Amino acid sequence: MNERDTLKINSAGHLEIGGMDAVEIAEKFSTPIYVFDEKHIRDMMRVYKNTIDCEYGGNGAVLYASKAFACKAIYAIAKQEGIGIDVVSGGELYTALKAGFPAGNAYMHGNNKLIKELEFALDSGIGCIVVDSFREADILDELAAVRGIKQRVLVRINPGVEAHTHAFIQTARTDSKFGFGVSDGAAKNICKHVLNKKHLELRGYHCHIGSQIFEKQSFVLAADKVMDFAAEIKNSLGYEFAELNLGGGFGVWYNDEDPKLKIEDYADYLKTVINAIKTKATEHSLKEPYLLIEPGRSIIAEAGITLYTVGAIKDIQGIKKYVAVDGGMFDNPRYALYQSKYTVLLANRALDNCTEKVTVAGKCCESGDILAVDVALPQAESGDILAVLSTGAYNYSMASNYNRNFVPPAVLVFNGKAEYIVKPQSYEDLVRNDLIPERLKNE
Ligand SMILES: *Cc1c(COP(=O)(O)O)cnc(C)c1O
Repeated sequence: MNERDTLKINSAGHLEIGGMDAVEIAEKFSTPIYVFDEKHIRDMMRVYKNTIDCEYGGNGAVLYASKAFACKAIYAIAKQEGIGIDVVSGGELYTALKAGFPAGNAYMHGNNKLIKELEFALDSGIGCIVVDSFREADILDELAAVRGIKQRVLVRINPGVEAHTHAFIQTARTDSKFGFGVSDGAAKNICKHVLNKKHLELRGYHCHIGSQIFEKQSFVLAADKVMDFAAEIKNSLGYEFAELNLGGGFGVWYNDEDPKLKIEDYADYLKTVINAIKTKATEHSLKEPYLLIEPGRSIIAEAGITLYTVGAIKDIQGIKKYVAVDGGMFDNPRYALYQSKYTVLLANRALDNCTEKVTVAGKCCESGDILAVDVALPQAESGDILAVLSTGAYNYSMASNYNRNFVPPAVLVFNGKAEYIVKPQSYEDLVRNDLIPERLKNE
């Protein structure tokens, strides 16, 4: 466990989050339930913001990548913390607006934004749109013209750096569906294209090299490449950029294969990148750009845990022991999608010795409905509260009603008090949009 003040084992031998006993949360709110530690969310938002303020003269901003976890409350927190957001769909933008988040502090991403989404964004007064295709630039220019505005945009650049958890590779070309490659000239062409649009204001460049990255050098390399590109564009097209958006991707702790980073370590990451930008700006005689970063996972993943109740236990003698819980791939599809590893523990017996290796399964009618494979646990019994750690990112936001299970509710814990931020679904919610055509009603 990557312990902190607001995530630890208490003297009763129970898991405690946000100053509240996890067993008490499970009793009060039932399971399965997502639990979020507000202090940790705020601490993470602040460490990035403070680092930009202190190390870069406040010449930049943090954008929370909402796809990691989107609901009204998270936007309300981002607003209070004075940070911006990025959104990747009309639905995320709508949720943010409903929470009173100012559209001017939102950036919109997507490799295939719908015309409807672009219209909604412009009509809401979105701060900036990150252009990801020639067609999108054409459409956006027309939509802006109709509205008599000049829309701020960035273009998404592919610097040829691909990062993976513990390694990164530098490729001449990338085959990503996102962005415009530098090496094949596409990035320069989209700049020319946008600079010719009367109703678009090119602010600069965006890149996002991957996710769950621990290797600082991969961010430095990406920053270097985009700064080199900016210099080349200045020399060849006479355009000097104002903004550099380096995306998100900082890694978090899921299990003991990952480093246990402390909050200050994230400040270090950012400091290293800032120094690289300053060095490159001097080298190329460029103005230091306004810096944007878009952390999602690193703000919210470790802030969240999921609590389940153990139900059926199946011991296939000599082969495997399954511990089934009342949730599964409908609340956390990440093992099914990419064999993601998680740490699990019994929240009501957190100090008991781990005596066996088990596979934690969900309740869906699907063999691949697994939450964790071969994890060490004390001998679990029906009724135990099982906690999965670091589930704050890409769990609720990827959840579904598969098998017509309920997407679990979420609570926010602060100073020992838990409140719903997403309320429980009901059976009625599941059928709300269902219709039976008249002709199917004949007996
Ligand atoms: C997913 C994504 C992010 C956030 O990535 P994390 O790994 O969650 O920090 C930021 N920017 C863009 C464009 C993304 O696609």
